Amino acid sequence: MAEPTITPSLQLKALQTTVSYAFEFSPFYQRHLKGKLSEGFSLEDYKQLPFTTKEDLSTHNDAFLCVPRNEIAEYVTTSGTTGEPVSLYLTKNDLQRLAKNEFDSLSLMGSTSHDIFQLLTTIDKQFMAGLAYYLGVQELGAGLIRIGPGVPQLQWNSILKNKPTRLIAVPSFIVALIDYAVENGIDYQNSSVEAVVCIGEPIRNDDLTYNTLGKRITDNWDIDLFSTYASTEMGAAFSECEAKQGCHLNEDLLFLEVLDENGQEVKHGESGEIVVTTLGVEGTPLVRYKTGDIATVYREKCSCGRTSPRLGPIIGRKKQMIKFKGTTIYPKAIYDVLEHFQEISCYKVLVNKDELGNDNITILLEKKLENQPVFNEIKALSKSKLRVVPKFDFIEADKLRGMIYQKHLRKPEKIKFTN
Ligand SMILES: [Zn+2]
Repeated sequence: MAEPTITPSLQLKALQTTVSYAFEFSPFYQRHLKGKLSEGFSLEDYKQLPFTTKEDLSTHNDAFLCVPRNEIAEYVTTSGTTGEPVSLYLTKNDLQRLAKNEFDSLSLMGSTSHDIFQLLTTIDKQFMAGLAYYLGVQELGAGLIRIGPGVPQLQWNSILKNKPTRLIAVPSFIVALIDYAVENGIDYQNSSVEAVVCIGEPIRNDDLTYNTLGKRITDNWDIDLFSTYASTEMGAAFSECEAKQGCHLNEDLLFLEVLDENGQEVKHGESGEIVVTTLGVEGTPLVRYKTGDIATVYREKCSCGRTSPRLGPIIGRKKQMIKFKGTTIYPKAIYDVLEHFQEISCYKVLVNKDELGNDNITILLEKKLENQPVFNEIKALSKSKLRVVPKFDFIEADKLRGMIYQKHLRKPEKIKFTN
């Protein structure tokens, strides 16, 4: 991607166009923005508009649609990290926007038409990410191998035969790939793979150094990792450039606010909730959509020369805050503890509420760890990092994997909330 071409006035214009369009064509926004919109509104006026919440989108799902049904080209659903999945409808132009988004994103990471990508994510099941990468790689003029998720053996067969330069994957699965290569004597250090485009999970700490997962991969395999942050609702991704100083906003496609508890914009280096308006979307545009995701925003110019704001890793989701024995914990803090240990190759976190409304945390680990010295280390690290020790249960590895990698789910289920 070249230097950003979008100026504040151009972006305001895009914002005005998008908001007016949503107001004109979406039954939801006709009600939601009634009496609140003036023609040629200013940025200050925009910041007074009501938010759109996840609940709005799931409760009034089809009332967001702005086009006649016969103009829908793709029906996608959200992955349902929290709550029920909702539908998003894409027109042909929205698919173009998606292709541009991923073209920009892959270019930002230094990808070119000479790259060959191996896609380790789902492309069916109404999943947007796989489709977006497919379109983006085609737009880039690069090659694509669609293997899909799981099955390390298939992945390696293809890597050795087709020689992809870049993988698109959930980073925790890269750990499984490394383990498989080690166990089966595959010379993975000299493979064709140069980099991984990481989706779905953070690989960095808040200070942008590699977290335990990121370290676990790069300590064992000399490859480059790129973070991304995206969601189906946004239909766009924030992606790391080669400077790795946070994920850049694509200013052509999204208008970003990062807000504190009082709805005020946070400063450079501070964290808040990510709120976006999708620019140029025809099917299901969103205005001031509260993602529920908390991250740090960096507004000063990146060392790559680009001036677009960047986001740090997602610290947590508002909905996934766990209240445990008087402290607040985000799932990521638990993952970080568990992923610190090489001995833990899979785990599942169960969270349920007791009669008093407090959360109970149970961590399921493989049976073979039960009487190992490492278990004491796991408890000790939990105590120091989480300030509490959750309950641990041990079950057979096969059964545990079955609970994490469920056939009907598009992503591994590392945590389950039950009320
Ligand atoms: Zn940069």
